[in-house]
Amino acid sequence: MIETSTREILKLSKTETPQPSLADRAYHLILDQLLRGSLPLGSVLSRRRLAEQFQMSIVPVAQALQRLEIEGLLESRPQAGTRVRVPTSLEIGEHFELRQALECQSARLCAERATFQERLELKRLAANVDALYAKVPFQDPRDDLAFAVNESHVALHMRIAEYARSGLLKLEIEKSHVLIFNWLYDTARGQRILPPNFHQDLISVIAEGDPQKADDAMQGHVSYGLKSIQIAVEPLRPKNWRHKYQPQRRSRLV
Ligand SMILES: [Zn+2]
Repeated sequence: MIETSTREILKLSKTETPQPSLADRAYHLILDQLLRGSLPLGSVLSRRRLAEQFQMSIVPVAQALQRLEIEGLLESRPQAGTRVRVPTSLEIGEHFELRQALECQSARLCAERATFQERLELKRLAANVDALYAKVPFQDPRDDLAFAVNESHVALHMRIAEYARSGLLKLEIEKSHVLIFNWLYDTARGQRILPPNFHQDLISVIAEGDPQKADDAMQGHVSYGLKSIQIAVEPLRPKNWRHKYQPQRRSRLV
């Protein structure tokens, strides 16, 4: 169920056949574990163990791992194995910049093109996202509620992209995985404590219909918390390739 839900929200199966292959299934199962924090940044993956867990052969698991590596979520070295990629501070900064480039344009177009009903819907979704965020700060980021918060957060941002009415822009947001990386960073850092009405404030500016104001609001929205993510992720960078993941105390910083 979760697997399907993640796929629907993130629209990651667009290029797949109607009948997902075993490799597609393995891909979504591993992605689900990444987003839930059960495979944290830096953890080493075993093809054999994953194959046993998913009750499939090693070949589709290897294909899924290769796809996740191409997408920048995993990294591997010959004769060492595969692990969840721990980004450098520079890479995290670049993901934020790319997300800004894509989502500021998304907010601009949404401000111009969304219908009255769509603006109302975005406001409702934003209120729901803010209410969910307010519930989770003191819960383990790996629990179901934290997953639901991140899922509804991504869904809201994708809905803004949908109402921007640029199919290519929306596709680029999906393909670049900027929202997935943001989700992973939030999971690595521990749940965010956001200002009250963080998403309702963003949507109310977009709903006013001024593209420049929408752009500015999204710019501030996306860059919020960059520094704290860089600080939280840096200690996770393993000194050795086979470094065993040690769970850290979760930071409550924003
Ligand atoms: Zn947001």
